[in-house]
Amino acid sequence: MTSHPHPEATVPQRLRILLISSEVEPFAKTGGLADVAGALPKALAGLGHDVRVLMPKYRGVERHAGSLAPRVPGVQVPIAGRIAEGTLLEGRMGAGIPIYFLAQDQYYDREGLYGTGEGDYWDNCERFIFFCRAALEGLKRLGWIPQVIHANDWQAGLVPVYLETLYRDDPGLAKIATLFTVHNLAYQGVFWHYDMAMTGLGWDLFTPAGIEYYGKLNFLKGGLVFGDLLTTVSRTYAREIQTPEFGCGLEGVLQERSAALHGVVNGIDYEAWNPASDGEIPKGYTADDLKGKRACKAALQEELGLAQEPAPLVGMVTRLVEQKGLTLVLDALPGLLAEGVQLALLGSGEPALEQAFGDAAAKHAGRVAVRLGYDAGLARRIYGGADCFLMPSRYEPCGLGQLISLRYGTIPLVRWTGGLADTVKEFDPAKQAGTGFGFAPFTHEALLECARRALAVFRQPRLWQRLMRNAMAEDFSWEASAREYVSLYRKAVKAAAR
Ligand code: ADP
Repeated sequence: MTSHPHPEATVPQRLRILLISSEVEPFAKTGGLADVAGALPKALAGLGHDVRVLMPKYRGVERHAGSLAPRVPGVQVPIAGRIAEGTLLEGRMGAGIPIYFLAQDQYYDREGLYGTGEGDYWDNCERFIFFCRAALEGLKRLGWIPQVIHANDWQAGLVPVYLETLYRDDPGLAKIATLFTVHNLAYQGVFWHYDMAMTGLGWDLFTPAGIEYYGKLNFLKGGLVFGDLLTTVSRTYAREIQTPEFGCGLEGVLQERSAALHGVVNGIDYEAWNPASDGEIPKGYTADDLKGKRACKAALQEELGLAQEPAPLVGMVTRLVEQKGLTLVLDALPGLLAEGVQLALLGSGEPALEQAFGDAAAKHAGRVAVRLGYDAGLARRIYGGADCFLMPSRYEPCGLGQLISLRYGTIPLVRWTGGLADTVKEFDPAKQAGTGFGFAPFTHEALLECARRALAVFRQPRLWQRLMRNAMAEDFSWEASAREYVSLYRKAVKAAAR
């Protein structure tokens, strides 16, 4: 009877991992999910794992994928009283990683990923039911079965549900463990209850303990209820989303799954973001030789029409939306200017915020510079040229701006929430330890008080240089995060084997 080895001994060193994501950089992107799905597989492959990726074949992916070879034709899924058929095509992403594109042109060969400017596609429920179920049907015939599926966000939320129900006894798929990651809790994939029939799942799942949510069908909830392990993109956000303030109505589900829920912070690409080799900044620099950063600051002041003086230059590169705490910046501005600060902001978003920052720039010419729009080059020159980087977010699942600014020795001033709280450490002048400055209350007074602490250090150039070096010595490359995912994959595989 006990001839099987103990499950703990059965998790091999080299894991087979399938990452399922509805967007992957560079093929298709609407948000941070695509960055993660593009970068994490490379880091996992770098650690020696057999990682592959699966996404829909949207219009235009060939531009980045090159020639695609049909791998599994005739993938059939019963849906809405008929059979929908797709094909798994195989291509390669960076580092030679196999990527499978699920082709079904009626669903995915469209102008947008989820909709157009007019709104979401009316059949998104059907499109992503097909995505989840066809991924598993295709996998059965691929000749390669992963030990763990890493499913992401609502679009892949039904994958763990199907594995635990319709495919529970499937000889090929039954043993696959799942890790489900939420990148943005605000997007849940909620559809009316009539769509339940299309899923092929029994109505017994349409309960508060299953995938029902206030009378509707909720894909994200499916992933959260049925995933073996759950993650989100920082430890603090993982705690925060279990509270009504941050839980978007799913806090109860997340509390129930608390033991399975982990936070793994996103990384950034340390080659793409490197002040020593960044072609967009006027002069390169390193932690050992910071002279170039002064040249970057002077050039940025000139580019933006800011007074050429040794004033502390605070940068911001951000979507102009409520989440980012921009009203605090507007309210704190007179106080910041009284402290001698210069502000350089690049962003686009809500018209009222664009207007307010435009007005501030007009009123304080030479002290406040605002550029509206998306500009990757200017963003880099701000990361390179500013002294501080301000992110007073109301909430922040992970945040990339503070990671980039640490890499560039541009000291983050942040609100202690989500990933900001996990990646920035308050500088202690006595110990000369820490990498930035933060504040907790969501008020402009707290922001101002935080800025004053930073400025007190800024006025001591040697201490400030020490702080810059501390920031630049941090490691938020993908490798460290990939190792955390691997240890969670192993844990999920062990749990699923029991
Ligand atoms: P979010 O994903 O919520 O917008 P993050 O901090 O996680 O916030 O990531 C935002 C990324 O987009 C950062 O790399 C930032 O530099 C970049 N970004 C935001 N707005 C702009 C802009 N207007 N121009 C160029 N880059 C921008």
